[in-house]
Amino acid sequence: MQAAAAYGLLGEKHLLAAFIDMDGIEKTVASLRAAFDDHFTHAFAAKANCLHRVLALLRQCGMGCEVASPGEFAQARRAGFLPHEIVLDSPAKTLGEIEQALRLGIALNIDNFQELERVTALMATSSSNSEIGIRINPQVGVGTIAATSTATRTSKFGIPLEDAGQRTRLIQAYIERPWLTGVHTHVGSQGCSLELIASGVAKVVTFAEEINAAVGRQQVQVLDIGGGLPVNFASDEFTPGYDEYAALLRTHAPALFSGAYRVITEFGRSVVAKNGFIAARVEYTKTSGDRHIAITHAGAQVAARTVFLPEMWAIRLSAFDAQGRFKRGEKIPQDVAGPCCFAGDILAHERPLPLLEPGDFILAHDTGAYYFSTPFQYNSLPDAAVYGFHIGDDHEVRFELLRAEQSIEHVVETSGLFK
Ligand SMILES: *Cc1c(COP(=O)(O)O)cnc(C)c1O
Repeated sequence: MQAAAAYGLLGEKHLLAAFIDMDGIEKTVASLRAAFDDHFTHAFAAKANCLHRVLALLRQCGMGCEVASPGEFAQARRAGFLPHEIVLDSPAKTLGEIEQALRLGIALNIDNFQELERVTALMATSSSNSEIGIRINPQVGVGTIAATSTATRTSKFGIPLEDAGQRTRLIQAYIERPWLTGVHTHVGSQGCSLELIASGVAKVVTFAEEINAAVGRQQVQVLDIGGGLPVNFASDEFTPGYDEYAALLRTHAPALFSGAYRVITEFGRSVVAKNGFIAARVEYTKTSGDRHIAITHAGAQVAARTVFLPEMWAIRLSAFDAQGRFKRGEKIPQDVAGPCCFAGDILAHERPLPLLEPGDFILAHDTGAYYFSTPFQYNSLPDAAVYGFHIGDDHEVRFELLRAEQSIEHVVETSGLFK
């Protein structure tokens, strides 16, 4: 924070910026790769942070990329991912997207039986190098956050394994289609326990073995077990770690580690969340009904989930002075508000912090995934600048611009101004 203030990346002219610890990402990916055997391929879920330099760095670190839209696909390609390093998972793939994926040899997970018919028709007239799987919903239930629990009984994702007749219909589908060589699942994300996730993965792995037994050979060769490792938003500790999750999978689904299958993972949030933060200037402070309120420049535009679901997505905040020095002193409950014009635009309610003053900065921790990288265009607020940083052995901080602050001219253009 001191370096950012000293370099003028934050201040009166630069009210809001986000930062990514590039060395931290490398370390996180190293811990991910160390936790699993070499027959695991780790595809980063692009929606968690689709910034070009972040994707490029993750590729350098040896990750693949999971995409779910034409935009994410284009971002992955531009970041250097080769077609065979990409997995396409959208639940709403158009015929055109499926055709393109099959033509380029991109791995593809089919979401439903109608999509299966489309792929079947295309596979009847042309060949493809794509690894093709079906997304299976193991229906293991809901975590503490419904919106990120994808393996509920009535989830919109995948084919529900426990619904009447589906298991038989799925097995028949594999028997009739030798090109169906994968199964896919993604049980859920934040709010799901490791046990819940591992039990969902285990069910789908067992089902893959059931398919192979029914076919009479190892037709299913790829097990894509999704992402979803929950992130600790309460402290600096990286818990649970990938090694803990891997250990749990070893007991729940040992086949993943037998070497008989190629295994793909799709971690997003856990790779980047703790390697990023948002910093914003405090513009004004006041009291209202005895409540201390600080009006800052970080609100729903960079922290939509926290603002709209404050209990479920609480994040840690720290206070810094205008020079970027950590603020100490008596902690007083304060509402830390954003700049948006709706009453709920609050990053934290009654949060005990040293009393904020105009010109101070507020830092929102663990926001490297699904925050500033996917902004919400409310009040026509510009997308924040994003800087990567490295800290040298001499404690010198080096910044690199990852995304420029959106100009007001560009904001106007995106409102439909034709030139
Ligand atoms: C979002 C998503 C992921 C990544 O989830 P995280 O919780 O960010 O790890 C992986 N796979 C699929 C299919 C997803 O939709």
